[in-house]
Amino acid sequence: MKMLLATHNAHKAEEIARITDGLGITWVSLRAFPGIPEVEEDGATLEDNAAKKALLPARASGLWTLADDTGLEVAALGGEPGVRSARYAGDGCDYEANNVKLLGALEGLPDDRRQAAFRCVMALASPDGRVILEEGKVEGVITAGLRGAGGFGYDPLFLLPDEGRTLAELSVQEKNRISHRSRALARMRPHLRQIASETGGVLRTASQRRAAKCPLCGLEMDAWHCRELCPGCGYQIDCSDPS
Ligand code: IMP
Repeated sequence: MKMLLATHNAHKAEEIARITDGLGITWVSLRAFPGIPEVEEDGATLEDNAAKKALLPARASGLWTLADDTGLEVAALGGEPGVRSARYAGDGCDYEANNVKLLGALEGLPDDRRQAAFRCVMALASPDGRVILEEGKVEGVITAGLRGAGGFGYDPLFLLPDEGRTLAELSVQEKNRISHRSRALARMRPHLRQIASETGGVLRTASQRRAAKCPLCGLEMDAWHCRELCPGCGYQIDCSDPS
């Protein structure tokens, strides 16, 4: 079954393809839909942004679409930079500027008040506007200086206390095993598996979408798949073409 991955980040695409291996999903990239406009990440929460990033391309492409949004939540800063993590030091800023700003904001704070968490929210949206959200989290402590050359973003400042290393000191494989993103994706995997099996690998295009009615609760809906789970009562409806 084809699904759309709403990210331009090659590293994320590779990680997602690896974790969903064996589910019968062929990931299509946004490059296959040049007409879909860039989504503005102006939501008030990670959940808002992740849903928005998945919904617009899902509606436009007619494919189930997966998107994610991540934030670094620092307890001493009331959860900041959170949803503004990418542009913490200002619009168009780079990772280095964000790290300098974060170090400045926590300057002089003792180790036991430097707790933080990376939180990733994944959204899986259907072409008719249903959204499934899952989250993954990794907890740590913000160091007083940069450590390590791997990873990206805030990784050199994010210490895993049990490991004694920052995320930037882990190998790619080590980071992928425990990251907020891989944890969110692991929780999304059963939904992906269910959707891939429900549709029997067959997804209708927009012109093939048909009206269906749940025989159990009577809810009327647009059916994109040969089999649909009723959003009202959960009954599995056979929406296949009788011919
Ligand atoms: P995005 O939603 O994945 O684009 O993440 C928003 C921002 O959070 C990025 O620009 C990074 O600054 C930060 N970020 C996301 N994931 C990571 C990570 O795995 N390590 C370090 N920083 C990250």
